[in-house]
Amino acid sequence: MYHNYDAVVIGGGGAGLMAATQISPAGSTAVLSKLHPMRSHTGAAQGGIGAALGNLEEDLWEWHMFDTVKGGDYLVDQDAAEILAQDAIEAIYELEHWGLPFDRTDDGKIAQRPFGGHTCNYGEGIVRRACYTADRTGHAILQTLYQRAIRNRVDFFDEFQVVDICIEAGACQGVVAYEVATGELHIFRAKTVLIATGGCGRLFRITSNAYSFTGDGHAMAFRKGVPLEDMEFFQFHPTGIYKLGILITEAVRGEGGILLNKDGERFMERYSPNLLDLAPRDVVARAIHTEVAEGRGIDGKDYVHLDASHLGREAVEKKLPDIQDFCGTYLGIDPAVEPMPVQPTAHYAMGGIPTNVDGQVLMDEKGTVLHGVYAAGECACVSVHGANRLGSNSLLELVVFGRRAGRHMAKHLTETDFLEVKPDPRERVKEELARLYEGDGTEEVATIRSEMRDVMMNNVGVFREQKRIDEAVEKVRELRNRYGKIRVQNRSNLFNQELLEALELGYLLELAEVAAMSAAARKESRGAHSRADYPDRDDDNWLKHTMAFRTERGVELRYKPVNISFFDPKPRTF
Ligand SMILES: Cc1cc2nc3c(=O)[nH]c(=O)nc-3n(C[C@H](O)[C@H](O)[C@H](O)COP(=O)(O)OP(=O)(O)OC[C@H]3O[C@@H](n4cnc5c(N)ncnc54)[C@H](O)[C@@H]3O)c2cc1C
Repeated sequence: MYHNYDAVVIGGGGAGLMAATQISPAGSTAVLSKLHPMRSHTGAAQGGIGAALGNLEEDLWEWHMFDTVKGGDYLVDQDAAEILAQDAIEAIYELEHWGLPFDRTDDGKIAQRPFGGHTCNYGEGIVRRACYTADRTGHAILQTLYQRAIRNRVDFFDEFQVVDICIEAGACQGVVAYEVATGELHIFRAKTVLIATGGCGRLFRITSNAYSFTGDGHAMAFRKGVPLEDMEFFQFHPTGIYKLGILITEAVRGEGGILLNKDGERFMERYSPNLLDLAPRDVVARAIHTEVAEGRGIDGKDYVHLDASHLGREAVEKKLPDIQDFCGTYLGIDPAVEPMPVQPTAHYAMGGIPTNVDGQVLMDEKGTVLHGVYAAGECACVSVHGANRLGSNSLLELVVFGRRAGRHMAKHLTETDFLEVKPDPRERVKEELARLYEGDGTEEVATIRSEMRDVMMNNVGVFREQKRIDEAVEKVRELRNRYGKIRVQNRSNLFNQELLEALELGYLLELAEVAAMSAAARKESRGAHSRADYPDRDDDNWLKHTMAFRTERGVELRYKPVNISFFDPKPRTF
């Protein structure tokens, strides 16, 4: 089938929906989502969304901006961080006016809680900055944005998986989507397209990310010549449920929870005397890793305890109800009386599709814009997170930059015409799908995926070193060759998950190679990229963004400077 829309948004999560609310007053807008939008990963976000409202104590957006830059180990583009921190305040009040049910202070203001790395007066002490709805903040945001989009008459195509973004001669024509229920290929002709497909945490064995976080948008753009920025920076959240990776929100520590090793020692006192358990995530994840490596994991195993039992039953039930629920369901324990077993879990991609501050996709290290194509949310790299994202800044990025991208698209569509979608892009897609049916079948999707996740977790994880990263690059290349031999057995057109999983594995393998190659090249430690063989940050040589390009000779790395408009890089201490 053939559809015409002024704007197509790929992804019905926080970034996609926020943009859709802004585009729709200017033109016809379709949101295409491989899941029902309410099942997007934004709905799983727990702890909070940051903004210097100063509802409980003094707070300034300049402090928020500083924390974001320092938390990102100075790889943050400061013009973008300025917008993030400044626009945050207006964005939160806008969400409130749209009906978002934030928790309240006793005098009726939006309540705020501490989060890692968020401080007052440029690092002096902890500040309460994260606005929240119990531990279901993302769920509340997603509901609010969805209703707003419906009110604005946005059209939704649920369970439509986009399989190709049509870019010919540097211009955008639209997208091709696979209708999951029927297997039909649809062409959506559009003047402008937003990529808002979320993250790619399914690269790793232990992850907090949804099964759908397979980097589709990243990979589809990459295949069309768009570079990928800073893919070596992947955040490991310190507190995933042991073995399962399911997230235990930082809000547990924000509310006063503490980390303990096998001796019952509050070990963060040694790693971050100032911010303790609320140091940025990269610092806490490395501390847990080190405790375990030095034999102080619980029962000699690879986890530590997160204890919230001293907060009392009432506080746990009121402020952390979902966490209590997860712990009961998955572990059979009650955090109001027992500590939770936790280990670092792959959580967030700082890198992604390069954009400017209006969400326009960039084609190279010089900032050349790809007209008509935009990206926002976790798949994009604007870059406000630099080498390490602060908690509560991602939900914020969705609303601030989703909004800016949407507004820019609204303007763009009034200034452009539709292009012919030629040649029929479905032919290309059919060829790609046919290849998945035609391999010799000696390899299986599940085996290749499992080997990829293991090598990424073990060799490109919390701590890295040259030899092991190089091994990962080799292994991923081998897996990419083997991927050519898989054969999808299910030929049905109805809900063919086997086919879609095979496609998604192709995306992940492509990103795994980029992430591992970018990590192998960066010979320093910065933020989440921690090299045992290069333990120091090296601003002289490495204060620059990685840009990975897909070329005929394979992946090629180039670099671009960081925007440093306010804060000069300083050593990070917490
Ligand atoms: C467990 C958890 C807790 C978190 N807690 C917090 C928190 O408290 N605070 C915070 O700031 N951040 C938090 N984060 C991070 C934050 O939630 C995410 O970065 C953010 O929600 C991503 O939003 P998004 O709009 O980019 O993607 P998503 O909300 O995941 O949306 C992606 C959308 O893209 C669609 N899609 C993907 N591929 C395709 C395709 N090929 N075709 C069509 N549609 C496609 C999906 O269907 C989905 O609708 C958390 C993350 C996790 C995993």
